[in-house]
Amino acid sequence: RRPNARGVDLSDIRELDALAKGMREADARVWRAAPLINGLVNGKKAGAGQADDQRKNAIAVKSPADNERTVGDVVWATADDIDAALASAAEAADGWSATPGRERAACLRRYADLLEEHTAELVALCAREAGKHIPDGIAEVREAVDFCRYYACQVEDEFDGEHVLPGPTGERNTYRLHGRGVFVCICPWNFPLAIFTGQVTAALAAGNAVIAKPAEQSSLIGARAVALMHKAGIPTDVLHLLPGDGPSVGAKLVADRRVDGVAFTGSLATAKAINKTLAERDGPLIPLIAETGGQNAMIVDSSALIEQVVADVIKSGFQSAGQRCSALRVLYVQNDIADTLLDMLSGAMAELSIGDPWKLSTDVTPVIDAEARDGLTQYAEQVDGTLDTVYCCRLGDTTRRGTFFAPRTLALKNSSQLGDEQFGPIVHVVRFEADELDAVVDAINGLGYGLTFGIHSRIDTTVERVIRRIKVGNAYVNRNMIGAVVGVHPFGGEGLSGTGPKAGGPHYLHRFATERAVSRDT
Ligand code: GLU
Repeated sequence: RRPNARGVDLSDIRELDALAKGMREADARVWRAAPLINGLVNGKKAGAGQADDQRKNAIAVKSPADNERTVGDVVWATADDIDAALASAAEAADGWSATPGRERAACLRRYADLLEEHTAELVALCAREAGKHIPDGIAEVREAVDFCRYYACQVEDEFDGEHVLPGPTGERNTYRLHGRGVFVCICPWNFPLAIFTGQVTAALAAGNAVIAKPAEQSSLIGARAVALMHKAGIPTDVLHLLPGDGPSVGAKLVADRRVDGVAFTGSLATAKAINKTLAERDGPLIPLIAETGGQNAMIVDSSALIEQVVADVIKSGFQSAGQRCSALRVLYVQNDIADTLLDMLSGAMAELSIGDPWKLSTDVTPVIDAEARDGLTQYAEQVDGTLDTVYCCRLGDTTRRGTFFAPRTLALKNSSQLGDEQFGPIVHVVRFEADELDAVVDAINGLGYGLTFGIHSRIDTTVERVIRRIKVGNAYVNRNMIGAVVGVHPFGGEGLSGTGPKAGGPHYLHRFATERAVSRDT
C-alpha cells in the first residue's frame, strides 16, 4: 500500500524549476483530441498524421484565461464513431472482466506512475484548457494518482477469486464480483483530470469496458489521460474516447441498449435527464452513479475564530473560481459577530489576486467559458435590486481577454431568497440569532441538496448538535470545506447532490460491479 501522492513542493527550487521547464515544453505543443476507437483516430494509428482529413472538422480550443490563445483543437464524435466504440466495447467487456483483478490493478498503478511522470505537462494543460491555477493543477494530478492507487488496492483485495461464505455442511457458498459490461463515463470540466480519472479507472478496475466522454470544455485533458491509460496497458478495445457535447454524444450513448451502466458528474438537470432516459430504455435496469451540485452552507457561531473563518471562506468560496461542487454557497453568520466577520472578509477579498492561472501569485482564475460567465453575470444583474452586495472584487486589466467573473458576497435576508446553485465565485451571506440555530439547520436541509457543509464553532455541544442533524455527504468542522482527499474524505452527497456511493471511498467500486453468489451442493 502507498500513502497519498505527494504532489510538487513549490518551495523547493529544484522541483519548481523542473515543473516550470516541463510546463513550458508542454505549452509549446499544439494539443489535439479526436474520437479514439480501438486506439485509432479515424481508423488510423493515433498521432500518425494521416488523420488530417478529419481535422477539417476540428474545433479550436481557446484558453479561458485568454480567449486569443489557441491551446489545440478537438474533433467531436459522430454517430458512426459512437456505434463503432459501443460495438467494440461490448465485444471486449467479458474478456476484460475475466482478466485477473491484479492485472487490471497493475494497469492502474502504471497509469498512476505515468501521471506522476507527466505532472508538469498535465498542470500546464489544466491551466491552459481549464483555466486552473498551478496549485489546483498539481492537486488534480495528486487526486488522479490517489484514485488509481486506492482503487487498485481494492481490486486486489476484493475482486480477485471468490470469497467463501458460511453455509450448512454439504454446501459451498461463494461470492464474486464481475464487471457489468459497458460503462459510459460522462465527466466534468471542473476536475478534468481527477474526476475523469476517478470515474474511468473505477469502471475499468471493476472489470467494465469503458466509453469515456470528457466534458466538451476539457477534451484535450481527457484525450491525454486516455492516451496515458492505453500506454499503461489498458487494452485499446476496452477503453474508447468520444469527445463531444451532451446532446450529440452523451445523450446518444446513454440511450443505447449496449450500455450497462453510466457514471456521471455534472449538473442536476443532466443527471435527471440521464435517469429518465435509462428508465425509459427497453431492456434491463441500468445503474446511474451521479454526482451533481450543492447549495453548500457554512454555519459560523459567535464562538468561532474569525481569522480562521475568513481564511476558510476565501478558500471554500473562491478557490477554483468557486467552480467546485463542494464550494461554499451560503454563509450563515451569527449576528453578534457578523459585522466584524464581513468587514474582515471584505478586506481579505480586496487582497485576492485575480488573473493568469500561469502565475503562482494568482488566487482566483477565470470561469470555464463565456456561457458560464454570462450566466453568473445575468444572475448578478437579476438580484441586483433585491440583494445587497457586501463586497465585490474588482477585475483588473489582466482579465480583459479571459472569461473572468468578479468574486462577490451577497447578503440575503433569509434562506428563502436563495435561488438555484450558482457555479462560480459567489458567496451568499445570511445572518442568524443564537436561538435560530436549529431553524438554520432545517433551512439548509430543506434545500434538498446534501453535498458539503461547514461549521465553525468552539462549542463542542453545538458542533455535535448540528452535525447530528445536518443531511450532507461531507461535513467539515472548523476548517475549509473543499479538497476532499481520496481514502481520507470519501466524497459525494445525498438528496439532490447525487446517488452515491462516494468517490475515493470503500463502496465506490462495488456500484460498478455486479455481485454473484454461487451455492453448490458438495
Ligand atoms: N472533491 C472536490 C472537493 O472536495 C469537489 C469535486 C467536485 O467539484 O465535483 O473539492
